[in-house]
This record gives sequence, C-alpha cells and structure tokens, in this order.
Amino acid sequence: MPTVLFAARPESWRTWREPLGRALAEAVPSARLTPEAEPEAADYVVLSPSGPIADFAPYVRTRAVLNLWAGVEEALAIPNLTQPLARMVDPGLTQGMVEWVTGHVLRHHLGMDAHVANPERRWDPVAPPLAPSRRVGVLGLGELGAACAAALARLGFDVAGWSRSAKAIEGIEARHGPDGLDAVLRRSDVLVLLLPLTPATEGLLDARRLALLPPGAVVLNPGRGGLVVDDALIAALDGPLGHATLDVFRTEPLPRAHPFWGHPKVTVTPHIASATRPETASRCIAENVRRCEAGEPLLHLVDRDRGY
Ligand code: NAP
Repeated sequence: MPTVLFAARPESWRTWREPLGRALAEAVPSARLTPEAEPEAADYVVLSPSGPIADFAPYVRTRAVLNLWAGVEEALAIPNLTQPLARMVDPGLTQGMVEWVTGHVLRHHLGMDAHVANPERRWDPVAPPLAPSRRVGVLGLGELGAACAAALARLGFDVAGWSRSAKAIEGIEARHGPDGLDAVLRRSDVLVLLLPLTPATEGLLDARRLALLPPGAVVLNPGRGGLVVDDALIAALDGPLGHATLDVFRTEPLPRAHPFWGHPKVTVTPHIASATRPETASRCIAENVRRCEAGEPLLHLVDRDRGY
C-alpha cells in the first residue's frame, strides 16, 4: 500500500483532499493519501515548495516527488531532494495561462485603457488595427508558451517564439539560440515571457535586450520575476517602452515601496496569471503515481542540469 504524502500548507489540503483522493483511488486503488506521515513512510511526496518540507534527507523511502507547481526553481533549492522530480503540467493551469496572456495581449492590442478611463470624454473614432498587423513574441515554447502562442496565432496575431531547442510549430515563426532571441525581440510589439527561471534565464531581459524591442512595445511577464532586470525595465519604461504588465516578481508579495507600484506604465497582477487546478491536476499526479508503481517512466520529469 503506497503512502502518498500531501506536503503543502494545511489550507491546501482542504481543497485537494477530495479531488486528489478520488483520482488516486481510480488510478492506484491501494494508495493511501495523507497530509501527515513520518518522512520515512512516504513513498510519494506531492510537494508545494511553500509547504512544510525544508529538507528531504529523512525521506529515504520516497520514490518520486510530484511538484504542485509548473516552476521548479524553489523545489530544486530544497536540500537533499535527489529523488526523481516531476513538474506540474495541468490542462487547467495551461488554459488559465492562455486566458491571462490572450486577455492582456488584447488589452494592449485594442487600446482598451483609453476607453476604460476617459475622464476628458474624448471622442476619437479610430478603429483599432487587426491582429495580423500586431507582432507578438513568446519567449519559452514549452507547455504554457506553446499553448499561448498557438491561441494568439489562431486569433490572427503574427506570432514568433523562442526556445532552447529548435521547434516546428504550425503558424508560428519558431526561433532558438542567441541570434534567434535578438530576432524575436526586434519584431515583438508585445513580448510574453514564459521561460522558467534557471541560471541561463536569470536576468535575461536586460537593458541591451530591452533596447531591441520596437518603440512602444509592451512586455507581459507571467513567467518569473527573475527573468527581468528590474532597474533596466524601469529605465526602458521611462523611455520608449510602452507598458509592462507583470504578474511575477523577484520578491513576492511585491514590496509596497517597489517602483513598479504606481509607475504609470506598469500593471501589477499578484501572481494570478494561472494556478494549478486541483480537479484536472489531481489526475496528472495520480497518473504519475500509477506509472511509478507500474515501473513506467514518469511524465514531465525535471532535468536538473537544465534546471527545468
Ligand atoms: P516548460 O514546458 O518547461 O517550457 C519551458 C520553455 O522555456 C521551453 O520551451 C524551453 O525550451 C524554454 N527554455 C528554457 N530555458 C531556456 C533557455 N535558456 N533559452 C531558451 N529557451 C529556454 O515550462 P512551462 O510549463 O511552459 O512553464 C514556464 C514557466 O511559467 C514556469 O517555469 C513558471 O516559472 C511559469 N509559470 C507561471 C505561472 C503564473 O501564474 N505566473 C503559472 C505557471 C507557470 P525547450 O522547449 O527547448 O526545452
């Protein structure tokens, strides 16, 4: 009887208990799901990096760690987490990100702000341009980036994307490598950051790269705060950059004194671009427990050398 330890904050247990219990009962009927177990009794750990586990040394029997989050940089920082680590790939999480990204691209594309707040009661009957004339760049063409790029392409946007390895995605100009990045930046009226935070992506959007964006460009960051050099972004916004909509920050909650708050060209959202959805994500977790029990390879294994 494998023991599945749900290692997250107590309030999460209330949300996850029922859907995860149901999914496990279907996939691995013998599994026992619990929010409390001795470390040496846990065969599997469902992990929230903000949860109670600060060190994996006592988890001597644990065969796999199943992360509740898509981003794994915090899990990878937990000492002695040497077990196979699976990141979260959840259709609900992906759909939420597609909705957030599409919504914020459309906000800027359509110039919605001018009509949402119009205290001077200006009447400028200029119709917005159509999507094919708007170039969107998506950095990161993984689970989330590829889904967002595809959704934007379906709306008619002129979409380019960038990833570590070469890709062929229908309807998207897919680039890779350093030259590919500069080319995508140069043609991005709207730039979407959906890269993981790794040693290779830390501070990627620096002053040089921001300067490659077309004047008036908009940056959307639902990826990770550390992808952006904050001071360079502020300096670019004080110059030709059009706007930045930021969901993630180097320090969260974003400190009240941070210059992003109140900057006229910044929109802050509080790390809500998307979230793991218990109903759909439970099935992904249960499937990985089933696979491990059956001796099959885990889905969505993290490559520790790459950091994602
Ligand atoms: P993923 O499937 O692992 O995709 C990562 C993408 O980034 C891949 O296309 C990968 O390239 C590319 N990449 C990684 N390192 C690179 C590098 N050095 N140079 C160029 N490309 C690189 O991850 P995901 O599920 O799409 O999630 C992406 C990130 O979104 C997560 O890591 C997390 O930080 C963030 N996120 C945020 C929220 C939120 O609410 N704000 C929610 C969920 C996730 P290859 O395809 O070549 O490997």
